Amino acid sequence: MTENDDKRIWDVVIIGGGPAGLAAALYSARAMRSTLVLEKEMPGGQIATTSEVEDYPGIPMTTGPELSMLMMEHAQRFGAQVEIGEEVTDVDLQEKIKRLRTYSGKTFLTKTIIIATGAAPRTLGVPGEDKLRGRGVSYCAVCDGPFFRHRPVAVIGGGDAAFDEALYLTKYASEVILIHRRDEFRAQRVLVDRARANPKMRFILDTVVEKINGDDSLESATLRNLKTGETQDLPLGGLFVYIGNIPNTSLFRTYVTEDENGYIQVDEAMATECPGVFVAGDVRKSPLKQIVTAAADGSIAALTADKYLDNLAEELTPEEALAYADSPASWEDSY
Ligand SMILES: Cc1cc2nc3c(=O)[nH]c(=O)nc-3n(C[C@H](O)[C@H](O)[C@H](O)COP(=O)(O)OP(=O)(O)OC[C@H]3O[C@@H](n4cnc5c(N)ncnc54)[C@H](O)[C@@H]3O)c2cc1C
Repeated sequence: MTENDDKRIWDVVIIGGGPAGLAAALYSARAMRSTLVLEKEMPGGQIATTSEVEDYPGIPMTTGPELSMLMMEHAQRFGAQVEIGEEVTDVDLQEKIKRLRTYSGKTFLTKTIIIATGAAPRTLGVPGEDKLRGRGVSYCAVCDGPFFRHRPVAVIGGGDAAFDEALYLTKYASEVILIHRRDEFRAQRVLVDRARANPKMRFILDTVVEKINGDDSLESATLRNLKTGETQDLPLGGLFVYIGNIPNTSLFRTYVTEDENGYIQVDEAMATECPGVFVAGDVRKSPLKQIVTAAADGSIAALTADKYLDNLAEELTPEEALAYADSPASWEDSY
């Protein structure tokens, strides 16, 4: 028995406390459903790591951490329970009562789950990256930018996140060198123009990082120009990687369908083919991955879960629910 083995059955458990999960929690709790959010790291997900947010409607300018806290407090105000530091490690989603287990050993029972696990940064996969992670190599400018005051840093990537964070880093670094494998960018024109106009920004294009060098801390990156084949060693204080994300779906593969890039496929109501399992935000296949779309997904998923719960109430007696709760979880077979 673990401390939470009280057989409480939640209406909705949301895995992930980013914008999608917290918006789902707000809508679900406001619909009077008992709602629990399990978040393994910090509220806000990816936005907790960004410095400036200026494209969320109604909030002209804020910081990622500030918006994250507002979202969490908003959901809590309607009665959602948010558990920080609870990483879901096992799920059993087949039955009408679903079961989740966390790294700390707690188990949770729920009638529905909303998967809002978002995405994790893609790594370069070059020699030296793992060794120097946290010693000059970073995936979060807002977390680590202040460590590189008056030193040159590189940002790898050509999308919105790379440009946003490169511009942020100009506040601290002596120079910010944006390195991109092509000579054009996916980032919005407004960001590219802003970066080009910033005197601290420099661009190295058609170029990839081949190796990251340093013993105890980052010293330089070996770059290769894809057009000429020339290599150079670029001395650096910091190197920030913004080359996209990988969706966090590994726990759910046996229950849902993924597209060729690993994103979960859902219908327009955010429902999967697994009854009672819904998905929201960056973890799902969608044309745009932003705070506003994640929040919208969360609200739709919560509404769909609410309707599912209305129907389930007619099917599931309290005795049946208890019987499900007492049966062994699928993961118990493997222990
Ligand atoms: C640097 C950066 C800057 C950005 N700037 C902007 C911007 O200015 N405007 C904008 O609209 N968008 C921006 N984005 C994109 C935006 O942050 C994402 O689209 C949005 O956060 C997606 O929300 P989400 O809730 O789907 O996923 P995420 O934000 O990825 O949140 C998922 C959460 O799930 C948690 N989780 C994952 N697995 C588990 C598990 N097993 N158990 C428990 N918890 C788990 C994670 O810890 C995380 O907190 C930016 C992204 C980055 C990286």
